[in-house]
Amino acid sequence: MDSTPKPPAPPQAAKIAVRAQRPALAASYSDLFDRLPDPGFLLDPETFAVIDVNPATELKLGIPTEKAIGCQLSDSILDSEREEFAKALRMTKRRYYQRKFNVTWVPLTGQVLYLEAMACVLDLAEGRQALQLICRDITAEREARKKEERYLQELVALNAKLEELSTFDEMTGLANYRYFKRELSLEHERARRYGQPYSIVFCDVDHFKHYNDRNGHPAGDELLRMLGTLIKNECRNLDLPARYGGEEFAILCRSTPALGAQVLAERLRARVAKHDFQFAAQQPLGRVSISIGIGEFKNNGSSAEEVLKAADVALYASKRDGRNRVTLADK
Ligand code: GH3
Ligand code: MG
Ligand code: MG
Repeated sequence: MDSTPKPPAPPQAAKIAVRAQRPALAASYSDLFDRLPDPGFLLDPETFAVIDVNPATELKLGIPTEKAIGCQLSDSILDSEREEFAKALRMTKRRYYQRKFNVTWVPLTGQVLYLEAMACVLDLAEGRQALQLICRDITAEREARKKEERYLQELVALNAKLEELSTFDEMTGLANYRYFKRELSLEHERARRYGQPYSIVFCDVDHFKHYNDRNGHPAGDELLRMLGTLIKNECRNLDLPARYGGEEFAILCRSTPALGAQVLAERLRARVAKHDFQFAAQQPLGRVSISIGIGEFKNNGSSAEEVLKAADVALYASKRDGRNRVTLADK
């Protein structure tokens, strides 16, 4: 006996062999067509008029069989889709392969439905042909997808808002404490690596409690908003002005030594003192003013916290020395 193993049969041949072993299929096309859960139409290949429908058509689309025969499906399709629909049928007939397309079903009465139609040519007995159209109702699916898309859009908008809230101070539009600290830490790393300086300008409104007590909290808020604008206007693009908290503002002057930051601080101090704030004349100094302290890396500290602390100490030296002034940290 020949013991040489036979080469495996090609997959196509294997499929044919399996089919040959099946019991003879007794189900007819009509059985399958009638048992389909989705509406099915057979159309005349020349006129596209309906020649047969299955029971699901009445069940799902509400068209009784006797009314469907002889109809044109395009009469129940959204006006703007009719041309595309007719073209799809023509293409199916010409090219012979199965085509899938969506249509909007607009019945005379009843609900508008979205259908996914599968069309193909069927060879009937005696050399006749028909176009078979099986339509799956995708209305619920489509609504669910639209809802999902809406939720996604809302989520994207909410995330953007969240990002903004986690970055900016709502009252002044400047960066908030959190963002300032993150940027300071990055700048510190960069400055340390490249042996460059950076400075922190720390500002505090003078006698702000007096302003609030005398003019009310809303007036105080208005002053802070205006101050935010003045600070932003005096800074360069590379500087990062932030509302550090309450009536305290900080500016991170990237790649800038204390003497450079002092120029900005002095300009800002003068600008604020000159600004015509409401109720300014009733302040103890006869004007609204800010006191400023400046710390520099690495002359005044080897960590970001030490530089901040040095700027804060310098700020309180400005307060102690009479306010409305700028002080450089001294160690
Ligand atoms: P100094 O010149 O020493 O800085 O005196 P000051 O009165 O400015 O200092 P103090 O720290 O005593 O007062 C700060 C005030 O700032 C008290 C607080 O109610 C007020 N404040 C903090 N945040 C806000 C805010 O968002 N809006 C308003 N209107 N006031 C605020
Ligand atoms: Mg303060
Ligand atoms: Mg103050």
